[in-house]
Amino acid sequence: MRVLGIEGTAWAASAAIFEYDPDDPAPLDANPPVIETDAYQPESGGIHPREAAEHMGEAIPAVIESVLDATDGPVDAVAFSRGPGLGPCLRIVGTAARALAGTLDVPLVGVNHMVAHLEIGRYGAGFDSPVCLNASGANAHLLGYHDGRYRVLGETMDTGVGNAIDKFTRHVGWSHPGGPKVEDAAKEGEYVDLPYVVKGMDFSFSGLMSAAKDAYDAGTPVEDVCFALQETIFAMLTEVSERALSLTGADELVLGGGVGQNARLREMLATMCADRGAQFYAPDPRYLRDNAGMIAVLGAKMLAAGETLAIDESAVDPNFRPDEVAVTWRAGEAS
Ligand code: ATP
Repeated sequence: MRVLGIEGTAWAASAAIFEYDPDDPAPLDANPPVIETDAYQPESGGIHPREAAEHMGEAIPAVIESVLDATDGPVDAVAFSRGPGLGPCLRIVGTAARALAGTLDVPLVGVNHMVAHLEIGRYGAGFDSPVCLNASGANAHLLGYHDGRYRVLGETMDTGVGNAIDKFTRHVGWSHPGGPKVEDAAKEGEYVDLPYVVKGMDFSFSGLMSAAKDAYDAGTPVEDVCFALQETIFAMLTEVSERALSLTGADELVLGGGVGQNARLREMLATMCADRGAQFYAPDPRYLRDNAGMIAVLGAKMLAAGETLAIDESAVDPNFRPDEVAVTWRAGEAS
């Protein structure tokens, strides 16, 4: 089956085609989705929802056309990011997906964006039942599978991890996105004390980000603040990931989300997993940040499990939580 995936929850207007044989699924390396992405770049500040939606309106038709031109054969279903994400962007993507599914007369599949971040890692690793750390722009949580759903084992009590980092970089006047700039600056930095806030399985970034801004305003070199931000935030995420592995008894960890592109975060998680005899997998960066490949991959699995949506039940949901999704596709997976 060939599935067209469409992603547009925030900044990435993206389309992908994925060829999937449920009886004999090929590894991603041998059978990668064809992906085309057009990124929204704010002129100043962070992501403006109205501007991002305008970008989706212009870029989504072009990226769809581009992946259709680059591939051959009929499309068997249209899968789209149904949420979570920015409402104005999701509505554009939902409208495009419904119109295309109607025109092509194929089923529509509504994909939870955060479950897609997890599933692309599970697919790439060939893992059976991993814990997943989703470290993305607007989210930060640990997911683990239990009794037909991905349960939220721990999560941020305030902002997403990437958004927290981007708030600091906006404060120092750097352009969006801030994560890669913090990673670069941290290479020249030394540790300074910042608040470390983990409460059981949950964690918080807001006090930490205020302290980072205050330290910068008080004259601490920006490289040192960036280094300390990375060490503190990623140690918090690593601690909670380890606790999630310990609580569930799982011995596989996958990473999802754009902050997962950071080499220091991957190093800390890999070290923690090696120390406890667990396996760690971080997908290639093009599958970590927002991309339609992950929507097409999970969309194909959902289609194979019969998880299609009637048009009149396909409303988008900006607050769509991963634990609302009944995970029906794992039962029929070829092992
Ligand atoms: P979500 O998936 O929750 O909807 P999102 O749409 O913002 O989040 P992602 O593509 O998952 O998008 O992540 C984008 C975030 O990743 C931005 O906040 C960006 O600063 C951050 N990021 C990108 N590269 C790096 C890096 N090398 N180090 C740290 N953070 C990074």
